[in-house]
Amino acid sequence: MRERAVSGHPDSPGRTPGATLPSVTEREDTAKESTEARPAPSGPGDDTAASLGDYRATFYAARVAMAVLNRDGLVLAANPAFGELVGTDPAELVAATAADLTDLGADPRGWTAYREVLCGRSDRMRCTRRLKHPEGHSVWVEVTVEPLTPEPLSGEERMLLSVADISDRHDLLARLRHLQMHDPVTRLPNRALFFERLAAALETASFAPSGTGRIGLCYLDLDGFKAVNDTLGHRVGDRLLSAVAQRLTRCAEAAEDRGPGRGGYLVARLGGDEFALLVEDSTGTDQLAELAQSVLDALQRPFDLAGQRLSVSASIGVVERTATGTTATGLMQAADTTLYWAKEDGKARWTLFDPERNAHRMTRQALSSTLRPAVDRGEFTLEYQPLVGLGDGRAQGVEALVRWRHPQFGTLSPNRFIALAEENGAIVELGRWVLERACYQARAWQLAHPGEPLFVSVNVAVRQVWDSDLVADVAGILAETGLPPELLQLELTESAVMGSAGRPLQALQALSDMGVRIAIDDFGTGYSNLAYLSRLPVSVLKLDGSFVRGFRSQEHPNPADEMIVEALVALAHRLGLTVTAECVESAEQAERLRRIGCDTGQGWLYSRPVAPDRVEALLDAGRHTGA
Ligand code: C2E
Ligand code: MG
Ligand code: MG
Repeated sequence: MRERAVSGHPDSPGRTPGATLPSVTEREDTAKESTEARPAPSGPGDDTAASLGDYRATFYAARVAMAVLNRDGLVLAANPAFGELVGTDPAELVAATAADLTDLGADPRGWTAYREVLCGRSDRMRCTRRLKHPEGHSVWVEVTVEPLTPEPLSGEERMLLSVADISDRHDLLARLRHLQMHDPVTRLPNRALFFERLAAALETASFAPSGTGRIGLCYLDLDGFKAVNDTLGHRVGDRLLSAVAQRLTRCAEAAEDRGPGRGGYLVARLGGDEFALLVEDSTGTDQLAELAQSVLDALQRPFDLAGQRLSVSASIGVVERTATGTTATGLMQAADTTLYWAKEDGKARWTLFDPERNAHRMTRQALSSTLRPAVDRGEFTLEYQPLVGLGDGRAQGVEALVRWRHPQFGTLSPNRFIALAEENGAIVELGRWVLERACYQARAWQLAHPGEPLFVSVNVAVRQVWDSDLVADVAGILAETGLPPELLQLELTESAVMGSAGRPLQALQALSDMGVRIAIDDFGTGYSNLAYLSRLPVSVLKLDGSFVRGFRSQEHPNPADEMIVEALVALAHRLGLTVTAECVESAEQAERLRRIGCDTGQGWLYSRPVAPDRVEALLDAGRHTGA
C-alpha cells in the first residue's frame, strides 16, 4: 500500500503533521492509474492533478460532515463539518473509530449493515441516528456509508462516511405524526396511536418481559352523551369531551403517583364518546378496578361549561390479563363486550370481564346465527311424550318436542334455542317444519292403528301467529298429510293468547273452526283470567309443572296447592275446558290429580319424551304406558 504524507498540503486545513494520508490522495493516484486500465469512470479518475485539488478542497469545504474510513472503520480523514458535528478538531479524529462517533452500533441491524459495507459485501448502508451535539442539544442525522469508487489498484478500499443533519425534516415529521396521532378536541392520543401503543405493549410484555407480563384496559363510554350533543350542540359536546379527558388524565396521573413502578398509563380517545385507559405491566384486577372506580368518582362532580352545569356518568368495561396469548383484537373485543354488560346492567358502573358470561354469549351468538341453515340441513328431530288419561292410564295423544342435533354442541334441548329462534325470526321456518313433521308422523300412526287414533300436540310460538300465516300453513299441512284436524292440538302460551285481538284472535278462531284444538301451555305462570280465556276458542289448559311440584309428599302435604288446583280444575270444567297436568313424576301425584278431577297427565311417571319408534311400541302394547 502506498501512503504518502500530505502534511502542509495547502488544501488540508488543520492537518496534523504525520497524519495518515487521506484516502482522497490515495484516490488521486489510483484514479490516474485506473484510467489506463479501465474505461473512463465518472469522477475524478480522469481529471488532472489541478482539479483533484478542487475535489480535496470540496471535501474540506463541504457543509455536509464527511469522513474517509479504511476497511476497519477507522477514520483516515474527516472534514471540518464532521469535526464540528462531533465537537473535535478533525485532525484529532484520525484513527478514531467511526462507528463510535456516529453511534452506528446502536442497533444490531444497522451494525450488521455497516459491517457488510466495510467488508465489501454491500454497496451502501444508510441509517438515522440521534446524536448529541457538542452544544448540548440533540441532532437527528442520516448516516450513509459507501465505498469510494473506483477502487484503488492497491486493493485497499476506502469508505466515505457522510452525515447529513436532518433535524428539521425530523421535527417536521414528528409534528405531522403528532397531529396524525392525536385527537384535536381533547389533545389525547387517538385511536391510531392507542392501537400502536397497545401492540407495542403486548409485544414487550410477552416477548421481553421485564415487568409483570400483564396488561389492563378500562374501556369507557359516556352515558347519554348523544343527548348533550343533540340538545346543547356540538360545541358544548366538544367542551364536555375535553373536560372529561382532563379528568381521565388526572385519574391516570394519580394512579401513577399512588403506585410508582406499577406500569405506565395511557389515556386515549377512541372516537365519539369512547375513551380508553391502558395500563402496561398491570398487577391484577384490583389495580384496574381501583382505577375504574376513581374514574367514576371523578366524573361524578358536575361540569361547569360556558355557564351550563352538566352531569355525566360513564360505563366502563374492565379487562385485565396476561399479555402472552393476548392479541390487541382479542383484548378490545373482550373490553367491548364488558362495556356492553356495564350498559346492560344499568350504566354508571364498571364491570369486570367474566369468561363464563362471555362463553355463554358466544354460544348464544353461534347458535343464533346457525339456526336458519340448520333447519335447511335437517339438524332438528322430534321426540314425543305421551299425554295420558288419568282415569284409565291410556295414552290419548303425544306432545311433539323438538331437539337440535347440533354438529358441534351435541343434542340441544329446546330451552337452549327456541327463545333465540323467536328473537331472530327463525322460529317461523322451524315451527313450520315441526308442524309438518308431527302431522306426517301422527297420520302414519293413525294409518297403522286406525282403531283409536292418537292426537299430536304441537307447540306454537307467538311469532308464528304474528309473522306467518299460521292458518294457511295448518290447512295446507293437514291437506297434504291427510291428518284429520281433530288429531291436531296446538299449544300456545298464555301471553300469546291473552289480550289477543285482531289478527291472532281471528287466526285462533279460524283454526278452531277447522276442528283443530287449542291448548294453553304452562297455564298459571302468566296472569290470564280464566273467565276471559273461556271466551276465546281455547279448549285445553295445560297446568304448569310448578303446581304439581307443589303437591308435597304424603308426609309433608301442602294443602294450599292442592286446593288451588282443585278450584282451578272445577272452574275450568265449568267453563268447558279440559285440564292436563304437566310434570307428573310420581304415582302419588297422579292419584291426587285423578281425585281432584284432572283429565290428563304428562310426565316422567308415564314416559320421558321418546323417539317415534318407541311411541309405535307403546301403541302396539295397547297404549298402556307401563306406569
Ligand atoms: P313444554 O311445552 O311445557 O314441554 C314440556 C317440557 O317439560 C318438555 O321439556 C318435557 O321434556 C318436560 N317434561 C315432561 N315431563 C316432565 C317431568 O315429569 N318432569 C320434568 N321436570 N319435566 C318434564 P323440553 O322438551 O325441554 O321442552 C321445553 C319447552 O320447549 C317446551 O315446554 C316448549 O315450550 C318448548 N318447545 C319444545 N318443542 C317446541 C317446538 O317445537 N316449538 C316451540 N315453539 N316450542 C317448543
Ligand atoms: Mg308444550
Ligand atoms: Mg308446558
